[in-house]
This record gives sequence, C-alpha cells and structure tokens, in this order.
Amino acid sequence: MRFSDILGNERAVEQVRALIDNERLPHALLLHGEPGVPKLALARAMAQYLHCENRTDGEPCGVCPSCRQHESFNHTDTFYSFPFIKKEEDSNCDDFMPEWRDFLKECPVVEDYQLWLQLLKNDNSQPHILVKESENIVRKMNMSSFVSKYKVLIMWLPEKMREDCANKLLKLIEEPFDDCKFILVSDNPKEILPTIFSRTQRIELPRPAMATVAGYLANRYGIGQEDAMAIAASADGNVCHAEHLLQADNENHEFHLKFIELMRLAYMRELAKLKVWSEEIAAMKREKARRFLAYAARQVRENYISNLHIGDLNYMTGEERQFSVKFAPFINEGNIERLLDEFTRADIEIQGNGNAKIILFDMAIKITILIKK
Ligand SMILES: [Zn+2]
Repeated sequence: MRFSDILGNERAVEQVRALIDNERLPHALLLHGEPGVPKLALARAMAQYLHCENRTDGEPCGVCPSCRQHESFNHTDTFYSFPFIKKEEDSNCDDFMPEWRDFLKECPVVEDYQLWLQLLKNDNSQPHILVKESENIVRKMNMSSFVSKYKVLIMWLPEKMREDCANKLLKLIEEPFDDCKFILVSDNPKEILPTIFSRTQRIELPRPAMATVAGYLANRYGIGQEDAMAIAASADGNVCHAEHLLQADNENHEFHLKFIELMRLAYMRELAKLKVWSEEIAAMKREKARRFLAYAARQVRENYISNLHIGDLNYMTGEERQFSVKFAPFINEGNIERLLDEFTRADIEIQGNGNAKIILFDMAIKITILIKK
C-alpha cells in the first residue's frame, strides 16, 4: 500500500509521512473519521513505509523483502486486531486471519464494515475485540521483532473493544517497549473507552472531496464521470455507501436484462432457451436468485400498475420504463395473480433447498402459458 493509493486526505498523508521520516511517530496513534472515510489503507501504508528498507520519494519502494511481505499481508512484524465473533472460549484474531486477508484484498481502498460482517458469516451477534485478544497482543508485542526496527499493531475499530480487553492493554499502550507502535483506526472515537482514547495521539480524517470519490468510482468501476458524480453525491461522499449504491445499480441492470429475456422467451415459447435461462439463474448464489425472483415479481406488479395509468404509484428506472411501454399490456387481471404466485412459489422452494434448475424451469414453462392470456 502506497501513500499515493490513499483516497483524498493529502494533509493527513503528509502529516504521518513526516512523523515517520523524522522518527517522531508516537507509540499510539489514532486515525479517526466517519464510516466510509478510508483510514485503514493509510494505517497499512504507514506500516509499510515504516518497515521499507529503501524508501523512495516519500513512498515505500514496493520491491524490498519487507514491502513484498506487506503486499501479501504477511509481514512478520505487523499484526492486526479487529472485531471478531467468539467461536471458542479462547478465540482471538489469529483464528480469523484467512477472512481478514480476504477483507484486505476486497477492500483495498476503503474498509467496509458490512463486508466484514459478511466474511465473518455473522449470525446477528455483534463482533467485538474480546479479552483473549489482549493476551494475544501482549504476547506478540513482547516478542523481539523478527527483521524490523519496529513491531506494528494495527487495530481496526478499537471502539469495539471490551473493557476487560482494554484494561489488559493499558499498560502496554502507556509504557510500550521502544520497538512497539500502535496504530488505531476508528469510525467512532467517542465510543472508544476513555482510558484508551486518552493514551493516543490523534489525527482526524475528513471525508474526501466529492470529485475525488467520483474519480475513484469512475476508475474502479469503469463508469462515466457524470454517473460517478451522481452516485458520489447521493452517497454524500461516503465511499462505502457509494460502492453499495453502485453494486445495487449493477445488480438491478443485470436483473432487468434477465427479466426481459424471460418474458421474451416465454412469449415466443422457446423452451430450449428457457432451460438455459433457468440454468443461468440457478447458477447465481441462492440469495441472489431469490433477489432476482423478488425483482421479477416487482416488475410484474409495476407493469400492471402502469396499465392502470396511475403514474404516482409507479417506481421504475429509465430502462425498465422503456421496456414497459411494450410489455405492460401483457399483464392484466387475468394473469397478474398467478404470475406473482409463480415467483413466490419458486422463491419458497429455492429457500427450502429444492433443485433451483428444475424449480426455475418449471416456473418458466408456467409463464409461457400465463403470458399469452
Ligand atoms: Zn520497500
């Protein structure tokens, strides 16, 4: 991770770079800013820069052994702590390293808490930094460093730390060994236990400028600058939120195309192609296939409403409205209920672990009959 990869926050970048260059990095530094403001990437760039054996033009070189370890998330003197779910009595962060590496790979620019919950396969219990993790941290920070001058602990979301865990870390954070650096990364510093908060030096990271967020979205997702700007604006500059909107948009578009295909093939009674269509939907993950069925039911309902010419009640995107002009007349009192029943039945059967290919093909065949009425 290079400083130039950090989205916005040039001042904070300059500040931390100078702290490291001048050997003035405090023992415990807190990087904080609202959710959706990239902060974890800065902590990672700092650790890599601190450890780099050949800093070049204010950046880590990217090629020394240390940089290579950092870039494969395996640096021997860099440790990560983060909220996790208690699997067993002595669970600590080490039990979640595969998930954590996936997280860092999938969120290179901005840390997305919702994604972390998904990776933890969270069953509604809230993740925390639990007391066993404090023992893990103390043990690691007590070891002599392997290759570097400094050991670094990056703690993501210290506000999720339990009090018993925090109490065991106080001494270490207050009087650390000379070769220990703590970088804490918080979405909500007000929720950090005061005993920990007061022992840190702090840098606040504001939201990146709207144009910066838009530029990032345009680059990463290959969308036009104008669309990117609109999404950045509706997310109010929150990078995670903007990405969620964009992903939902992409899915909506994908579902729209699949819905048109279903209705056209059903109308033409193209059974062989409908079989392929069913297999494609079945190949989606189960929850995604279920979202598609909900989407299809909504489209059928919207098209029925549009037949009634009650504009206020219609919620369609531009592309959906365009398709609706020709399609809506096919949805009427004679088939709406039975069409909706078909989507609901397929959803229930897929949820119940039925064979999705067979369920969807069966549904498609019924639609060929219903759409003719
Ligand atoms: Zn290097």
